Amino acid sequence: MHYVDRVLASLKEKNPNEAEFHQAATEILNSLRPVVDRHPEYEKTALLERFVEPERVILFRVPWVDDGGNVHVNKGYRVQFSSAIGPYKGGLRFHPTVNLSIVKFLGLEQVLKNSLTSLPIGGGKGGSDFDPKGKSEGEIMRFCQSFMTELYRHVGADTDVPAGDIGVGGREIGYLFGQYKRIVNEHVGVLTGRGLSYGGSLVRTEATGYGLCYIVEEALADRNDGFKDKTVVISGSGNVAIYAAEKAQSLGAKVVAMSDSNGYIFDKSGISLDVVKQIKETERGRIRLYAERVKGAEYHDGCRDIWSIPCDIALPCATQNELDLESAKRLVQNGVKVVGEGANMPTTLDGISAFLGNGVVFLPAKAANAGGVATSALEMAQSSGRLFWTFEEVDLRLRSIMKNIYRNIDGAAREYGAEGDYVAGANIAGFRKVADAMLAQGIV
Ligand code: NDP
Repeated sequence: MHYVDRVLASLKEKNPNEAEFHQAATEILNSLRPVVDRHPEYEKTALLERFVEPERVILFRVPWVDDGGNVHVNKGYRVQFSSAIGPYKGGLRFHPTVNLSIVKFLGLEQVLKNSLTSLPIGGGKGGSDFDPKGKSEGEIMRFCQSFMTELYRHVGADTDVPAGDIGVGGREIGYLFGQYKRIVNEHVGVLTGRGLSYGGSLVRTEATGYGLCYIVEEALADRNDGFKDKTVVISGSGNVAIYAAEKAQSLGAKVVAMSDSNGYIFDKSGISLDVVKQIKETERGRIRLYAERVKGAEYHDGCRDIWSIPCDIALPCATQNELDLESAKRLVQNGVKVVGEGANMPTTLDGISAFLGNGVVFLPAKAANAGGVATSALEMAQSSGRLFWTFEEVDLRLRSIMKNIYRNIDGAAREYGAEGDYVAGANIAGFRKVADAMLAQGIV
């Protein structure tokens, strides 16, 4: 049996009931076969076994009291996956679906993503099954304070630097940071995505969505094409989706659809992003309100059919496994040219095969959404140096990082005879640096 197959079989046996973690590990390890074949030292040092086993998994209780005086208990997670190339780094997700499998899949992806940024950051991920929807400000604050009251002992500016993810935005980062500072008595860069008044970086809010468009732009430029006059469909209407839409529009594209977990809006004359921002960022309301406010726009219940809308570029920016084989086939039939993953693992394995098999340019999450964590690393650099760079300075660095990622994944794919397969290219390019660092550091 091939080394990769043995590692995958053992991973599934040792970690039953972790479907998302199996899915991510399968995708990654399968594309590493040619690399493993060239490097027998990996097997000798059980490098793959160590690569898929988190360095540390922290599980904890998060008790909190609601406005009515009722006590609730949620689960808290932090998976410190790999510190081979730098301190653990990766977001916190607050969503009722969060479980160990999801945190581990996100953590493993994060290791390679962070490596791809070319910045010195290891990989981690965390969160809670807490549902922020419908909670008051006071409830959110008390939950964040309780979460940090345990997490603070495991994180640190040179140890582990969490950030936001689904359900954790600027507001939550503020409450988490306030509690950390209160306990530890240090104003340091222990979290990224902080507000500009207390150590945050310009462009961090926009970074993941902008970065996604920058890498798509680079892939298009490589084919003598661009965003201008392209029709774009974006799922989600959170942080990543909103700023992907903003950048796509500014590059001359027409964004015709967006969604939330209840349904999607279709506006054939182009989405008015100010209305979406007002609903989602200011009012924290539902996307269906858009159709009530904008003439000619439609709202449809359910998210899946958003992929039946004809488009040139599809940007899934909501959540994992939101784009399955059937949706992929519809996009292909309707002539989609590029799919860029803003969310983590939004496309199922058979969906990815459908894109690759039909010549669609497919940019996988660990490359395409790396702009968020890359800008977080720029925030860390500014914190350590007590510096504050301008918007233009950070944006320029972000753009150059995304271009560089495209070059690297394209080059790695070619080197291993998989031209145009950016899934393989991203896994190989990200893995090589982590593997080199692991080999250099001995059996740890
Ligand atoms: P937000 O919480 O800001 O937005 C999430 C969006 O996705 C919302 O529109 C939400 O709808 C929708 N959504 C969430 N869960 C589901 C679901 N189960 N089914 C359908 N829609 C859903 O999160 P982000 O924009 O920060 O994150 C989106 C994705 O991008 C995630 O996969 C995240 O891991 C990834 N990502 C985020 C980065 C960042 O910097 N923020 C960096 C890299 C990746 P609703 O409002 O109804 O909940």
